[in-house]
Amino acid sequence: MAGKTIVRCAAGHLFTATWIPFVGIKSLKVGGIGRRYAKCPVAGHWGMVAKVDAMQLTKEELAEAHTHDAGVQ
Ligand SMILES: [Zn+2]
Repeated sequence: MAGKTIVRCAAGHLFTATWIPFVGIKSLKVGGIGRRYAKCPVAGHWGMVAKVDAMQLTKEELAEAHTHDAGVQ
């Protein structure tokens, strides 16, 4: 579980990212805690992404999220 976070972009794509709190390396810190502007690895577009509580996802959604990894954000 070392820092891997499930996030969802504005278009509804699910993916995992290594979410570093307070330090945006590739992304701008906008939108507040738990949200930031980042590149979506599913469709390759940029937009707001938000942390998702894994407990609220179905097994299918979790599996989908784990097929994509945005790396360090
Ligand atoms: Zn997307």
